Amino acid sequence: MASHDVIVIGAGVIGASVAWHLAALGAKNVLVLDRGQVGEGTSSQSSGILRTHYSVPSNVALARASWSVFERFAEYLADEEASAGLVKCGYLIAAPEGERLAALRASLDHQRASGIPVRLLDAAEAASLLPIARFDDAALIGFEPEAGFADAYLVASAFARGARRRGVQLRTGVEVQGLLREGDRVVGVRTAQGDVHAGTVVSAQNIWSAELAAWSGVPMPVKAERHRVLALQGEPAYTPAMPVFKDLGSPGMLYCRSYGGRQMLVSEGTAGELLDAPDNQQGDVSMDLVAEIGAQVAERFPSYDTAGLASSWTGVYDVTPDWNPVLGPVPTLPGLVVAFGFSGHGFKLSPAVGRAIAQTVLGQPTEVSLAPYSIERFGRGELLTGLYGQGAVS
Ligand SMILES: Cc1cc2nc3c(=O)[nH]c(=O)nc-3n(C[C@H](O)[C@H](O)[C@H](O)COP(=O)(O)OP(=O)(O)OC[C@H]3O[C@@H](n4cnc5c(N)ncnc54)[C@H](O)[C@@H]3O)c2cc1C
Repeated sequence: MASHDVIVIGAGVIGASVAWHLAALGAKNVLVLDRGQVGEGTSSQSSGILRTHYSVPSNVALARASWSVFERFAEYLADEEASAGLVKCGYLIAAPEGERLAALRASLDHQRASGIPVRLLDAAEAASLLPIARFDDAALIGFEPEAGFADAYLVASAFARGARRRGVQLRTGVEVQGLLREGDRVVGVRTAQGDVHAGTVVSAQNIWSAELAAWSGVPMPVKAERHRVLALQGEPAYTPAMPVFKDLGSPGMLYCRSYGGRQMLVSEGTAGELLDAPDNQQGDVSMDLVAEIGAQVAERFPSYDTAGLASSWTGVYDVTPDWNPVLGPVPTLPGLVVAFGFSGHGFKLSPAVGRAIAQTVLGQPTEVSLAPYSIERFGRGELLTGLYGQGAVS
């Protein structure tokens, strides 16, 4: 039977980052297994938005540490061909008077106290950055210049290529079908092509983390939720120089960004369609939903009243009860370390999460504590729910 120090299940942006960081930190005998191809899971469906705006302080810390990687991605990977596809256009977030205002104020205050460059803007300043939107109802507007969007598929591929160059074995088209156990301890995985032993198994399976529960009997607090994304073509264009925009005043807490040079990518930041089973195949985007989102867009972007639907697609979130990830060991399954439940905001955390998970596996201290993300928080009733409540702002 083959044997490795570490096996990583999943080669999405999280698994690839874990593998790269393991190798960069000196691990020698690492195997990554994916039943599909690198980045083919939910990473390829990501809207790619990068911000440090969160109401949960540990998320701010992970996002900030990750931003410093995205900003100098090729240098960090020591690979001049590596690109994250970063567009550094900034992140604008606004709330009118009402229930979300206090959360926005507290989150902006925390960001500034953490040394993150964030400015408060008046409506005229906001309109100078995003002239296609109206801000006359805004009670508070924050702008984070060190933010924007990038490409999760490119990032997953670059981490995977870098990991391979550093000696990691990456095998695609191999399905993991179970965990090997000695007593409680996880000692490897069962695959369609045979059993493989490992000192530690890292699961970065995203929505498919539910399989861990079926294999072990230990419940995994994650559900698969489908979300819809639209690309709208309106006048004037939503150019890449314009910031990402989070509209806390809209019923769906819309997020918008430039897409393909001139279109608007837009989606709701609230709950999506709960799926019975994990499946990232494309789902329907009904005309009712297009009309519902379109009406919210027209409310904020008046000239987009006549925008056309250029394209639409769906993607699936791995949602936990508090919309924050589960990171670290599973105490009832020694030998297993997990990183799942990113609830629609995992791409922007992927470099720092990969590093912290690799450090945990290697018994090293982490720069950002993973304690708040323990799976035990659910049993203890210590949920990590952010000030915005349920939803991917967190
Ligand atoms: C529509 C949408 C928009 C999003 N927008 C943003 C955003 O703007 N900003 C942001 O930060 N985040 C965003 N996210 C979230 C972010 O994209 C995800 O958190 C991140 O990509 C998850 O990466 P992952 O590696 O955990 O999962 P995945 O990419 O899904 O990778 C999991 C991998 O595990 C493999 N796998 C699972 N089970 C097995 C098995 N049994 N055997 C072998 N292989 C297995 C799968 O094949 C898959 O490749 C968005 C997500 C979606 C769906």
